[in-house]
Amino acid sequence: MTKPLRPEFWTLPLDRLTPPEWEALCDGCGKCCLNKLEDEETGEVVFTSVACRLLDGETCRCAQYDIRLQFVPECIVLKPETMRDIAYFMPASCAYRLRYEGKPLHDWHPLISGDPETVHDAGISVRGWTTPEFEVDEDDWEDYVIEEEL
Ligand code: SF4
Ligand code: SF4
Repeated sequence: MTKPLRPEFWTLPLDRLTPPEWEALCDGCGKCCLNKLEDEETGEVVFTSVACRLLDGETCRCAQYDIRLQFVPECIVLKPETMRDIAYFMPASCAYRLRYEGKPLHDWHPLISGDPETVHDAGISVRGWTTPEFEVDEDDWEDYVIEEEL
């Protein structure tokens, strides 16, 4: 039997979350599914509006989440023990990064608002403005760099 999610589980340290709680922490923004470019000299990472081929640009969800690694082996699987290496290039608004840094979730997070649409209504998600990677040559990703912090 699946255990119910504990009240306000998102306030607990990441390594104390159950697997369903870990999954439920995601705000559904889709930002981590944008392709990134890393400056070889400075190591600076910038996001582009070119999205992974499995991202649904309207729902902001992965079209094949459970079996995504079969199609996109480079997809990064977030885990409490790997956050130390991953957090720095996750979007600043990402719930996992916020909690890793000991910060609270934002009011628009569906766990706080109780409504999965608030992440979209607040303009946080990637809904409606991504370009699928199969439509853009990788050499042209620089033209799609997002200047503002995500
Ligand atoms: S950026 Fe973080 S909160 Fe947003 S979809 Fe990715 S894992 Fe979930
Ligand atoms: S495989 Fe799915 S979860 Fe991974 S980056 Fe692509 S759309 Fe996102």
